[in-house]
Amino acid sequence: KKVGVPKEVFPGEARVAVTPETARKLQKLGFEVLVQSGAGVAASFSDEAYRQAGCQIVSDVRSLWAEADIVLKVRPPERQPELDVHEAELLPEGSTLISFLWPAQNTALVEQLAARKATALAMDSVPRITRAQKMDALSSMANIAGYRAVIEAANHFDRFFTGQITAAGKVPPCKVLVIGAGVAGLSAIGTARGLGAVVRAFDTRPVVKEQVQSMGAEFLELAFEEDGSGTGGYAKVMSKEFIEAEMTLFAQQAQDVDIIITTALIPGKKAPLLITQAMVESMKPGSVVVDMAAEQGGNCEVTRPGEIYQHHGVTIIGLTDLPSRMASQSSQLYGTNLCHLLSDMGGSEHYRVDFEDEVVRGALVTYEGEVTWPAPRPAVP
Ligand code: NAD
Repeated sequence: KKVGVPKEVFPGEARVAVTPETARKLQKLGFEVLVQSGAGVAASFSDEAYRQAGCQIVSDVRSLWAEADIVLKVRPPERQPELDVHEAELLPEGSTLISFLWPAQNTALVEQLAARKATALAMDSVPRITRAQKMDALSSMANIAGYRAVIEAANHFDRFFTGQITAAGKVPPCKVLVIGAGVAGLSAIGTARGLGAVVRAFDTRPVVKEQVQSMGAEFLELAFEEDGSGTGGYAKVMSKEFIEAEMTLFAQQAQDVDIIITTALIPGKKAPLLITQAMVESMKPGSVVVDMAAEQGGNCEVTRPGEIYQHHGVTIIGLTDLPSRMASQSSQLYGTNLCHLLSDMGGSEHYRVDFEDEVVRGALVTYEGEVTWPAPRPAVP
């Protein structure tokens, strides 16, 4: 079978679904790999590097899509600006697309893919079970985003992270508060600790306490009994009283810490508002807030999605493209997630969409034109 790798068309998107290294893995699985000319350039992978990895470079976008049995992408299909046609229309009838799709938010796209008689798998819908960890692109991207959030904060913070005693004077360590200790939050904690900061973290799910502490950070707690663990290990919506108590804690912390990194999300809901304008204004001048929930409505009241700006002497970072800012790394990990999925689906020779496979079924959005999302919940034994 042939896999096709188009250049991403979303403005500023630097990632690519397949790198020369993951292309080699796909070929070991029996696939032929076609790459659109220039697809990897923004992630530092030249056409030549793909050629040396055994890929065929295709300069015409239409033929790339037309020749592929399986199209591998990062972002959901959208209007192709060069051709002024929707990418879904370029997908040949009966072929397969694997990318992030966010079916709950993109119902029109799902219908469009079904109308093309396409089979589509959403990497964002891979169930987060132990066996699927190697295909969990949400986690691999969140890990990168958490790291990059700290790097962006450090870049806008005009002091050391680590404390120092030098001949020129004593430097106190920077204090970082991380709100939400899921995959991205834990990655941010590890990175900030690595740079020598004093790190505190808070999450509504008490189960993460040990993970936070094992990374050398302090786990902040409320004198309040309410477990935020919902289905599938995800967070649930908290009571008004809990959110109020949590915000009282953050109001105190805001006056003490130098950097706040927020990652609080609840699947399928708008992000909870946790850092108010008044809290930002109470922070020391030169402090930094990174709102990793910017795209889902933001955890901080003054966040401007996609922007970095100063509010009351505090830098507010609302970047929504953190993984794309490390495109080479992100593409490598995302590409590896895709290889694992295609390997589990039988490789090229035994490739099949197995409805009995919980991972494939969970990710399957359309199958030969039928809308198959959301997958039925597995029966509770
Ligand atoms: P996420 O990005 O949806 O949310 C980030 C964090 O925000 C979560 O830890 C959540 O508890 C927290 N949060 C929500 N509301 C909050 C509030 N009001 N205040 C403070 N924090 C709040 O989550 P994620 O990182 O994608 O994953 C969360 C969890 O899912 C993981 O920690 C893990 O337990 C589980 N998981 C399991 C697997 C697997 O087994 N394969 C893979 C990935 C994640």
